[in-house]
Amino acid sequence: MLDHYHEMLDHAEWFRERNVVIIPHGSLVEYLGSDKFGALEVPTFGNRGILHWESSRARQRQWLESGGCTMPRVLEDPHDIDGPVIVKYAGAKGGRGYFIARDYRDFRRNVDIEEEFTIQEYVLGCRYYLHFFFDPTAEDGFQVQGRGKHAGKNLGRLELMSMDRRDESNVDEFYKLGSLRDLREMALEPSFVVTGNQPVVIRESLLPRAFEMAEGTVAASFELEENSRGMLGPFCLETIVTDQLEFKVFEISARIVAGSNPFVGGSPYSDINETRMSTGRRIARSIRKAADDNRLHDILS
Ligand code: AMP
Repeated sequence: MLDHYHEMLDHAEWFRERNVVIIPHGSLVEYLGSDKFGALEVPTFGNRGILHWESSRARQRQWLESGGCTMPRVLEDPHDIDGPVIVKYAGAKGGRGYFIARDYRDFRRNVDIEEEFTIQEYVLGCRYYLHFFFDPTAEDGFQVQGRGKHAGKNLGRLELMSMDRRDESNVDEFYKLGSLRDLREMALEPSFVVTGNQPVVIRESLLPRAFEMAEGTVAASFELEENSRGMLGPFCLETIVTDQLEFKVFEISARIVAGSNPFVGGSPYSDINETRMSTGRRIARSIRKAADDNRLHDILS
């Protein structure tokens, strides 16, 4: 048992001797830091290079927009706030400290200027967290079409594994106490601390657009850098669907997410390909198949 993720660095040889493959998750990347994670000399599932693109909101935006996703508007200057915005701090800390501001005064009152923050347009709609899996070694199924240097090539198979919505305390239950104005009078502010996950399915006619966004995101990941290996394995598009039935993507996680936990026994989406296929099992299957085909170098970094 280790007391801290950092100690993994001192045990790299121990891991390698036992043929360990690391499956990165949000806490590992957050607590180890992307530099230390890059320096950890233990075979890791997926492309570690892509976590550099995930770790900054500006880089995420460049990536997602080049993949054809529409994102909430960003405000560079807090004086420009002229409607509801959400102010977010850096890192995957489960929404802690985020707040909503309606104008510059609200912003000033709540902001912690010691921290790095982003101001985003607050998008009103329903949230869906779409869990996909990209397998570059599979030649069947929904094939991602390459772009740019990879135009005309099939890059691999894209699968929709499941979807969730997060429970967030206390914003999810805020309406029970009255209007935002009533709440302010009680000196209450909404907070976005993740406390759980609920399974959902999306309106069926939205699925083609969901696949289009995920395909674009995978294809764009191969174009981010010279000789990029792209993204592989599980990833999650965090979206809000407006009443115009438009998706706004506010974040990507380029790895397995906690929202896959309600689906350890499969989901209505993964059941279409194979019953009882969780994201964890899908990763294990990918490693087993690559080992059997002598292609581990294609899925590890
Ligand atoms: P994030 O850390 O980006 O995953 O955001 C945490 C939570 O804040 C989300 O699950 C949403 O409830 C909320 N949120 C984030 N971005 C927006 C946005 N642009 N508009 C509305 N709500 C948002």
